[in-house]
Amino acid sequence: SDKLLELKNVKTSFYTHLGEVQAVRGVSYHLERGEALGIVGESGSGKSVTSMSVMGLLQHPGKVKEGEILFKGENLLKKNSKEMMNIRGNEIAMIFQDPMTSLNPVYTVGDQIMEAIKIHQKVSKDEARKKAIEMLTLVGIPSPETRIDNYPHEFSGGMRQRAMIAIALSCKPDLLIADEPTTALDVTIQAQILKLMKDLKEKINTSIILITHDLGVVADVCSRVIVMYGGLIMEEGTTEEIFYRPKHPYTMGLLKSIPKLVEEERLIPIDGTPPDLLKPPVGCPFAARCDYAMNICLEEKPDYYSSSPNHRAMCWLLDENAPHVEVDTGVRR
Ligand code: SF4
Ligand code: MG
Repeated sequence: SDKLLELKNVKTSFYTHLGEVQAVRGVSYHLERGEALGIVGESGSGKSVTSMSVMGLLQHPGKVKEGEILFKGENLLKKNSKEMMNIRGNEIAMIFQDPMTSLNPVYTVGDQIMEAIKIHQKVSKDEARKKAIEMLTLVGIPSPETRIDNYPHEFSGGMRQRAMIAIALSCKPDLLIADEPTTALDVTIQAQILKLMKDLKEKINTSIILITHDLGVVADVCSRVIVMYGGLIMEEGTTEEIFYRPKHPYTMGLLKSIPKLVEEERLIPIDGTPPDLLKPPVGCPFAARCDYAMNICLEEKPDYYSSSPNHRAMCWLLDENAPHVEVDTGVRR
C-alpha cells in the first residue's frame, strides 16, 4: 500500500469558556495515493474539524491535543505555520461549501486563477492566462476565453464551484479535501460537480477526501467510506460494504435517510440530536438515539470489530460476548 495520509489517534478539542469541547476524540484512518475517501456524518460529528486539523487551519480555541497526522510520512503536527502554508499551497488543497465566500468579489475569476498559478509556477502573465483558460476548460466552464474575464457574481453557483475547483487544482495538489462541495447546489448541478470530481481524480490522479452529511453523495465518487459520529469513527468500509453490508446502527439509519435508495418507502430521519461534546457520553456516543441500545452501551465505549480487512465498526452488537440486555432510551423501536 502507498499511504499518502495517515491519522493516528487524533484528538482535537476547543477550549471554550464553558470547558473543553472534545470535537474529535481519537480518529485513525489512512488514504492511499489516487484514492477517494468519503467522510460522512451529521454536523457536529467531527468530520470537518478532523480535516481542519489535517490542513492546520483550526481556529482558536481549537487545538490538536494528541495523535499524529502523517502526510507522505511526515507528521504535519510538527510543522510550523510557514511550512504548513507551503503544504496547503502546493500539496493539499481544499474546497468548501460556499464558493462565494472563498472567491474575491472584486477580482475577475481569471485573475484569481492566474494568481493561484503564479504562486506555484514561474510563468509569464500570458502563460498564466493560457493556463487559467486550460483550467477553466478542464472543469467544464463553457467559452472559457470570454468567461475568464467575468466576476464571480456573473457566474452561477455551479460555475463558481467549478472555478473554485480550478483554483484548488492549479497547484496540482496530491490531495484535495472537499468539504460539502455540493451542499449549496441544486440536485442536477450537484451531480455534475460530483462527476467532475470523479473525472478529475482519474485525469490528474489527485487523491480526494470528500466530506459530506449526505451518504448518497459519496457513492459514485469514493471507493471507501468513513462514518463519523460524536467525534469518533463509527464505521469504516469499502463503499460497497457500507451501502450493502452496514454493521453499525447509525450507518443503517443514514442509509434509510437517503432518498434514492428507498424509493418505495418513506424517508426515515434519525430521531434525536448528537451528543454534547462538552460532556461526551462515557459509553457509545450513539446510545441515546439507537434503537438497539443495551445497558452496556451506556456504560462502556465499544471497541472496533472487523468483519473484513477494510471493514470495522464500533458497536457492542458485534461483540458476541457482550451482555445483550436492551434498555429503553426512549427511541421508538
Ligand atoms: Fe447502538 Fe449499542 Fe451499538 Fe451504540 S454500541 S450503536 S448504542 S447497539
Ligand atoms: Mg462541516
